Amino acid sequence: MGDKPTIAISHLGCEKNRIDTEHMLGLLVEAGYGVDTNEELADYVIVNTCSFIEAAREESVRTLVELAEANKKIVITGCMAQHFQEQLLEELPEAVAVIGTGDYHKIVNVIERVEQGERVKQVSAEPTYIADENTPRYRTTTEGVAYLRVAEGCDYRCAFCIIPYLRGNQRSRTIESIVAEAKQLASQGVKEIILISQITTNYGLDIYGKPKLAELLRALGEVDVPWIRMHYAYPTGLTPEVIAAIQETPNFLPYLDLPLQHSHPEILRAMNRPWQGRVNDGIIDRIKTALPSAVLRTTFIVGFPGETQEHFEHLLEFIQRHEFDHVGVFTFSPEEGTPAYNLPNQLPKEVMADRHHRVMELQQPISQKQNQQEVGKIVDVLIEQENPESGELIGRSGRFSPEVDGQVYVKGVLLERGKLGEASHREAKLGTIVPVAIHSADAYDLYGQIVDSN
Ligand code: SF4
Repeated sequence: MGDKPTIAISHLGCEKNRIDTEHMLGLLVEAGYGVDTNEELADYVIVNTCSFIEAAREESVRTLVELAEANKKIVITGCMAQHFQEQLLEELPEAVAVIGTGDYHKIVNVIERVEQGERVKQVSAEPTYIADENTPRYRTTTEGVAYLRVAEGCDYRCAFCIIPYLRGNQRSRTIESIVAEAKQLASQGVKEIILISQITTNYGLDIYGKPKLAELLRALGEVDVPWIRMHYAYPTGLTPEVIAAIQETPNFLPYLDLPLQHSHPEILRAMNRPWQGRVNDGIIDRIKTALPSAVLRTTFIVGFPGETQEHFEHLLEFIQRHEFDHVGVFTFSPEEGTPAYNLPNQLPKEVMADRHHRVMELQQPISQKQNQQEVGKIVDVLIEQENPESGELIGRSGRFSPEVDGQVYVKGVLLERGKLGEASHREAKLGTIVPVAIHSADAYDLYGQIVDSN
């Protein structure tokens, strides 16, 4: 070991934070720092925090306190660092540096300054940085999958959302830069690339003067990678051009993650998303007609201030009518610094919890029914984990995105029709895509057997 300190990273939050973590790791390794997976042994621990909602902050604070009690030297990065920069330095003597969401690429310089005895606050008031294909990156996801950030920040100001205040306005990468990184990832053996940003349908608006998602998808269609998936498609951005690009790009998975948040026009207006109320029903029908095999995922917030029983019933009917494949539900969390924090008619926690429960209860049989339609089909599955004891493999088909959706549990290799062979995994190495015959389903997951491709 040289005389450079060793560093561990504790990672919290979403996949956007994960990419920042991966760039910090890449930059540190390139600069010759030893990255230790064991926080106890490392000289420094970087905590890449999340500040999305109260529960996420509590988790970040718990991690910080545990490390402080273990007398670690802590570098705080991520959304909480951007949010509570001064407060963190004041209240946590173990924090040797605080780095903002637009400054994580300065990690090596910050560590050098800390080594010289400085206590560093490196936080740009407005984050403007975005990494590109030349920024070193050390991936932390399973072998076959990688996130690819097409833009950072958001120009909308939804009343409940703190993100634009923590991540800045939208800044997109060029199509060339994104394609170059996609090619690098494909050459490293990545089988699934997941495009992310705050609003992927607004991709390009800031640098090209209009959204360029359709052009981006077509350009990515030329990259030799079997699966490309997109997160955070706003219904208004799914123009006929984008839908045509999805239809005509063979490696693009027909999976749409539409963060709708609510269905009632009054709540959408109060959320500062009035544009959405006009298009919800129509656009979902249009997507279903144009892309009949599309898997639809969405998220809703229940308990937004002023949400009446009538508004909530409207949401339940909407969910029932559209039969989404996957639904995520959040209870409203009042975030200081956002307009919704001061809105009247905040709902009691019990009402929010009850509404959360009712949406989950309503959606469960719908998800079960949608998954059930996969039974009897042979689907491609990306193998991601192996249970060393049972030999069972775990992967995902195109209908499941990592972390948020279900999985496919895969048993044995079906060598001949009706005859189950030894559970040989030759055909199913981790990080490969194999055909799996689906034999059963529940509300979350699918179960099947590998079909011998010969
Ligand atoms: S919810 Fe999404 S669109 Fe709205 S401000 Fe937040 S990041 Fe932007």
